[in-house]
Amino acid sequence: GAGMSPEFEGFARIFGIETEYGVSVTDSGRHEDAGQVALAMYRPIVSRGRSTNTYLTNGARLYLDVGSHPEYATAECRDPHDAMVQDRAGEIVMSRLANDVQRRMRAATGRPVRIHLFKNNVDSAGHSFGCHENYLVRRFVSLDMVERELLPFLVTRQIFTGAGRLTSHGFELTQRSGFLDEAVSSATTRSRPMVNTRDEPHADPDEFRRLHVIIGDSNRSQFATRMKLATTHLVLCVMEDAARRGVPSGLDGCALADPRQANRIISVEGVHAPIELASRAGLHGGSDAASAADVTAVDVQRRYIDVVTRFLDSHGEEVDAALTVSTARSIVAQWTRVVDAAAADDVEAIADRVDWAAKKRLMDRWKDRHSGDLDAGCSGSGDPKRLVQLDFDYHDIVNGASFEALVRHGMMVSEVDARTGDMAVENPPSDTRAALRGEFMRRALQSSRQWSCDWTRLAIGGDDRHEAFLIDPFDTKPSEDYRLVMRMLDPSSDSASDVTV
Ligand code: ATP
Ligand code: MG
Ligand code: MG
Repeated sequence: GAGMSPEFEGFARIFGIETEYGVSVTDSGRHEDAGQVALAMYRPIVSRGRSTNTYLTNGARLYLDVGSHPEYATAECRDPHDAMVQDRAGEIVMSRLANDVQRRMRAATGRPVRIHLFKNNVDSAGHSFGCHENYLVRRFVSLDMVERELLPFLVTRQIFTGAGRLTSHGFELTQRSGFLDEAVSSATTRSRPMVNTRDEPHADPDEFRRLHVIIGDSNRSQFATRMKLATTHLVLCVMEDAARRGVPSGLDGCALADPRQANRIISVEGVHAPIELASRAGLHGGSDAASAADVTAVDVQRRYIDVVTRFLDSHGEEVDAALTVSTARSIVAQWTRVVDAAAADDVEAIADRVDWAAKKRLMDRWKDRHSGDLDAGCSGSGDPKRLVQLDFDYHDIVNGASFEALVRHGMMVSEVDARTGDMAVENPPSDTRAALRGEFMRRALQSSRQWSCDWTRLAIGGDDRHEAFLIDPFDTKPSEDYRLVMRMLDPSSDSASDVTV
């Protein structure tokens, strides 16, 4: 439309992942408070930047909310692949901070203190914490459409995004299905919606909303991290195209009778468990109404794959043009492969890329080796203590052994090599406004000036205060205000030549 940004047309998107980590301490010889450890992790951050809420030179946000869950929110990315890399940078940043604390505590106590930092979503006391996916979505996609057409996808994608967890119901596909309430909600506290629609787009609110997806698990598998964003992106493209043209998307028949219940059923009973659709017409809107109302997670995912595939026949080039690394065809091929394997109950085939399958394989092998002594130390859930430990160990990015061993033995695919991960700790994505923020932070941390930073605003304090706004997340061009702010941080630099972005 007139006056709209160029990215409003087409299928460009911004992706970001927020990950909260769980903290615990063992072997300290006395009780250590996880909250104290989390605070200690932030000591280097507080000493350089005044608070437990800061941004890094790679454009990410690092903070500690009330409670004791350190959080890392990646910078804005234009491709699911980049978001996966930035999320890996978050693991590296967090594990370095935790290892520092471990070293300090060992030096101070002389004891073999072990810090555990869990990239999972439920702690040992049963409290849940989140991993939020953020998607920039064109505003003409209504929230009603999100509920009817996106939510069934989000509920059933746990086939390949679930991180698996031992619960009183046995082995479940997801970590979080027992902790979510309503489908789509604007409330932030108390209730735990699956998709949060609180309106903070961090972009032009006339053009975009920021979809805040809460239903997902934290993933250790890099494949799963990338693919949950990539597949969700393709579904959003279908929805945006339909809404833009005012035509049906073909996804309406997927609406679920009770999304919260379906999410529970699939997690507890698996990918073949019957779930109920909202409409008796069924997935294909067919005449065979009576038999079509109950479907499985696999059926629903296949329906999405079909609709996306047909959409790409006519829009594949446009979708690819908006991505910088991924291609739509390869996303669909990998998506089809994991859904087909799950449909055939071939856990082995996906255990090298799907977290729940990897974890299930580890647990099954452990049980095979210990079939004689299953009652040696049972936890409340009836599972041997060692299996519960194995569950947590899989997610521990500081002292965990099992996930790292899988990667080392080629039993878990790794998509981010060590060098790429280390580079991403220092450097922001180059093709979003995060590039401008990262350069600002680099200079701010060297400067004696007061400064502040947010997703959409960079500011210098004091008598000659000045601020620069970064409203467009796709825009990497330094504005006049930005140049001025950068000069204020470092007066010795000449105007624009120093701004390398
Ligand atoms: P909370 O922690 O309370 O859930 P929040 O979700 O509002 O807060 P942050 O934790 O600050 O916010 O994380 C914001 C995430 O949104 C980051 O990963 C960031 O990269 C991403 N993001 C920023 N701007 C946009 C945008 N315009 N569209 C989509 N994602 C964005
Ligand atoms: Mg957050
Ligand atoms: Mg959030």
